[in-house]
Amino acid sequence: MRYVAVVCPRCGKASAARLDAKRHQCPYCGYVMQVESASIIAVGSARAVREAVVRHNTQLG
Ligand SMILES: [Zn+2]
Repeated sequence: MRYVAVVCPRCGKASAARLDAKRHQCPYCGYVMQVESASIIAVGSARAVREAVVRHNTQLG
């Protein structure tokens, strides 16, 4: 199973979604985005994507 780290266009936070998912709901603000048209910052294993999500959200301060 591969995952993607997507950035929410509404709140700017990253979260992990399954690569084969059509839609993904932001866990922070509830926004529902299309995975294929979302801003993807990482693709790979669950661990790699989780690290990318943490790194992105940490940089937001
Ligand atoms: Zn959001």
